[in-house]
Amino acid sequence: MKIAVPKEIKNHEYRVALTPTGVRELTGRGHHVCVESGAGEGAGFPDSAYQSAGATIEQVVEALWQHAELILKVKEPQPEEVARLTPEHTLFTYLHLAAEQSLTQGLMDSGATCIAYETITDAKGGLPLLAPMSTVAGRMAVQAGAHSLEKAQGGSGVLLPGVPGVSPGKVTVIGGGVVGENAARMALGLGADVTILDKSIARLEVLDDRYQGRIKTVYSTADALDHAARESDMIVGAVLIPGAAAPKLITRAMLADMKPGSVLVDVAIDQGGCFETSKPTTHAEPTYLVDGIVHYCVANMPGAVARTSTLGLTNATLPFVLALADKGWQKALADDAHFLPGLNVHNGQITYRAVAEAFGLAS
Ligand code: NAD
Repeated sequence: MKIAVPKEIKNHEYRVALTPTGVRELTGRGHHVCVESGAGEGAGFPDSAYQSAGATIEQVVEALWQHAELILKVKEPQPEEVARLTPEHTLFTYLHLAAEQSLTQGLMDSGATCIAYETITDAKGGLPLLAPMSTVAGRMAVQAGAHSLEKAQGGSGVLLPGVPGVSPGKVTVIGGGVVGENAARMALGLGADVTILDKSIARLEVLDDRYQGRIKTVYSTADALDHAARESDMIVGAVLIPGAAAPKLITRAMLADMKPGSVLVDVAIDQGGCFETSKPTTHAEPTYLVDGIVHYCVANMPGAVARTSTLGLTNATLPFVLALADKGWQKALADDAHFLPGLNVHNGQITYRAVAEAFGLAS
């Protein structure tokens, strides 16, 4: 199969959809891989590494798309990329269509077969191609929050581990899923005093069992949130209600009860954020102050660590890429009940129920 890997063109996106390791796996099976010149640079993979693995390098982006059957990307296609899609193409990438009506219409109009990373499932009921990026964001959250606690960043000047004779900082994580557990692990590793709040008792049981009391678990109620606001040096927002906007769990009024210079890290900002005062920020200007509380609300945290994120993402996508290349999309999806929900758009139709419902097109 002819496979193309374009350079990502979304603002500040440095990841790439295939590493030279992935190229070697594909070319070893007789597939032809064409990589746009510079596609891997932001993640530390030069053109020469792709060539050594058996890829050809294309300078002209139109030619790259024209000759491809399977297109591998990271972010949803931008308008100029949608314009290049044809019914002969299979596109495999993050799409997040439910909130993007014009993109969805563009993909329908293209006639292409569009398979989304984020709707592929696994046997445990998880989302295996979302989890690696949630892991990255969770681990980064505490790193970013610890930096934000420094005085020069507007923070309170608390060092999370403390020092002998001085208590460690208190970190509360709201939502103990993939992001939340990874944030809590990082905070624990730094020596902080860590508490996780969650609405799911089953999830709190798993965490309690796994960390044997080293991380405190608390059922999330209004009282527990008030207490967290008063006591914490850092609060990480990591809740998710699938398909819905994040609930506002820390209100503006509660900021008055927080210690001046405390830090709110809202990882759930891509779902609207779980703090009332959150608004999306960028890596160029990640934080702002509201009522003396530092807010960090970067919507694409994994982009800042493009090398690790690319390796984590491509480890998870590669088995699906190999199935698409070896079998073609129809047989690859038919053979795997967890891969099938990845199909979002085909032949001008929306083929994923939640996306169709979002646009009032479900039958
Ligand atoms: P997840 O489903 O693994 O975990 C979410 C947890 O939140 C669950 O355990 C759930 O029980 C809990 N929860 C739901 N409502 C709650 C409430 N009211 N109080 C307390 N807990 C509650 O999800 P995840 O993969 O950890 O993702 C969390 C969020 O992080 C999502 O919004 C995701 O999109 C976002 N995310 C952001 C970035 C970024 O760059 N900003 C990157 C990756 C993920």
